[in-house]
Amino acid sequence: MNSIAVRAAPNLRVEWDESRNGMRLDEVSTTVMVAWWSCPVGHSYRARIQSRLAGTGCGACARNRVLPGFNSFASLHPSESKEWDSARNGPQPIDLASSSTFRAWWVCPIGHHYQRSVRTRSSGSQCPTCRRQLGSGAVKNSRPRSR
Ligand SMILES: [Zn+2]
Ligand SMILES: [Zn+2]
Repeated sequence: MNSIAVRAAPNLRVEWDESRNGMRLDEVSTTVMVAWWSCPVGHSYRARIQSRLAGTGCGACARNRVLPGFNSFASLHPSESKEWDSARNGPQPIDLASSSTFRAWWVCPIGHHYQRSVRTRSSGSQCPTCRRQLGSGAVKNSRPRSR
């Protein structure tokens, strides 16, 4: 029985990148080993098992730390968040910073499905199909800007 796998928090088992590490977490015999991990939003990174056991997480996520109600995509871009395709995306808009590079699925108001990074949507990009259909600008979006 290996003690590392037993001591490892459930999230470590989930984030263990078995294909890159070439072994299962249960097969590891030393905590000083530097291993590959895949965080819940898909960043791939290397970290010593020891430091992960001590609670260190994904560095990219730490930089993009989300404070709900402050810098999450949901609070900064409420209308874009309504187009979030919850069925296809793992994380939710409230879980991600508006600067996140997570490539999410979106459903536009008239039902087109497309994939764009959260960061791209934050900078105002729209549904590519609608944009094509609006064409050369002959048909302008006439929806008044209220409020
Ligand atoms: Zn991450
Ligand atoms: Zn569309």
